[in-house]
Amino acid sequence: MSGPGMTETTQIYDTIVIGGGFSGVCAARDVSDKGRSVLLLEAKARLGGRVGSAPFKNRSEMIELGGTWVAPKYHPFVARELERYNLELVQSHGGSLKTIWHFFGEPSSRIPVQGDDLFELERALYQIKKDAHRIDARVPRDQQDLADLDIPIAAYFDRIGVSGSSRAFLEMWVILGSGALLEEWSALSALSLIAAMDNSVYGWYGAVTEKFAIGTSGAIETMLKGSGVEVQLNTPVASVDQTGATVAVTTTSGQVFQARSLVLAAPLAVWTDITFNPPLSENKVTAARIGHPGRMKKIWMLVENMPDGLYASGLGTDFVQIFPEYTDGDKKIAVGFCPPPSTLDGNDLNAVTNALRQFVPDAKVLATDVLDYTSDPYLKGTWMVQPPGILSRYASSLIATEGRIAFAGADIAIRWLGWIDGALETGARAAQEVDSILTR
Ligand SMILES: Cc1cc2nc3c(=O)[nH]c(=O)nc-3n(C[C@H](O)[C@H](O)[C@H](O)COP(=O)(O)OP(=O)(O)OC[C@H]3O[C@@H](n4cnc5c(N)ncnc54)[C@H](O)[C@@H]3O)c2cc1C
Repeated sequence: MSGPGMTETTQIYDTIVIGGGFSGVCAARDVSDKGRSVLLLEAKARLGGRVGSAPFKNRSEMIELGGTWVAPKYHPFVARELERYNLELVQSHGGSLKTIWHFFGEPSSRIPVQGDDLFELERALYQIKKDAHRIDARVPRDQQDLADLDIPIAAYFDRIGVSGSSRAFLEMWVILGSGALLEEWSALSALSLIAAMDNSVYGWYGAVTEKFAIGTSGAIETMLKGSGVEVQLNTPVASVDQTGATVAVTTTSGQVFQARSLVLAAPLAVWTDITFNPPLSENKVTAARIGHPGRMKKIWMLVENMPDGLYASGLGTDFVQIFPEYTDGDKKIAVGFCPPPSTLDGNDLNAVTNALRQFVPDAKVLATDVLDYTSDPYLKGTWMVQPPGILSRYASSLIATEGRIAFAGADIAIRWLGWIDGALETGARAAQEVDSILTR
């Protein structure tokens, strides 16, 4: 491939990886482990994609602006990296927590489901567990008889007949788990997470509380260090042409790279922004065009007058959940999750203070830090939450290799869809697929 304004390199790599998040980095490292030459092309000025750790506002406290919490007991691919590099985890938001629930218009320390509604909650949880048990989290969902669950969560709750305060309580967890509206997330996608957690509903609340001691950015750096992977940042890929035994990758600035195989590890929602020749299969294109509704804002705040250990959850409030991560004298560095339909501007200190005061009337927000994933053209959303009708139809197609191209990304993971572990799962699988392509 060559043309006006294009610069072509003569080297033919064994593999080019597009995208430097956890999935792309894992794929690149695993391919390189086999002694093969790998070039990783990342559109942005940094690696990590939907993860990234940095000090809060030039202070000493390290914050995670994107994906954070892992649980090696349930996350086998995270456990593999921890073991390989001897990485440590630290407990996040630990210590004794003072719980506040803001439901039905006012904050209270009482759990918002009381009296007879507790029986209804128990019955709903039993049905949810029963449905989760139908899912084999190791097998793509379209290979199982699960289409009846691939409906909006709102419709699923109607079907299982949960209402009143029990329903409000469950809705809060769904919104926290998705950053989407109840009509937008598939019940099959949500129930798959319960199945992935060895069918624990409680796990949603209690199991995933640890984070990388060196931060996610430190983990990514460690995975690449000494790997032999060649990394090129600020290099968005514009097109991919498969011709016979090679794949030509052209960047938006007209550089052309050649390889004998390729891993596409960019988010599903941006696949259609790259021109593929021959085109990607129709099922991949359909799912990519639909994208996903996850658009949670994760807002870090330096706060005055916030009680110790406050763990606040709400429905109909700007924040669905808030908790402190660090204490500095009388100030806290806290994180809050702001789901749609709220339009809270995370950079507007007055607006964030007012939102926090729904839980803590005297709180004052002094500074914030937030990344906008949804309007980022290379990410187009926060963590993957599949809309209804995708998983039961397209799950296998999304991961299928096409010619010399293998596909990776948390967005198409089989077990931990939308999670760091899912990114690593698909990176490892894509590396194996590339190995088969190269030894064919
Ligand atoms: C706010 C937030 C909180 C989260 N919390 C958690 C959590 O607590 N625990 C957890 O396990 N997961 C969490 N996640 C999810 C997790 O971070 C992601 O699922 C995972 O990191 C995705 O990794 P990936 O490699 O699949 O994709 P990405 O990290 O999105 O990486 C894809 C890369 O491809 C690049 N790219 C895109 N287009 C191109 C192109 N044309 N050319 C070259 N490069 C391109 C992008 O710039 C990006 O760097 C969270 C995510 C967010 C946003």
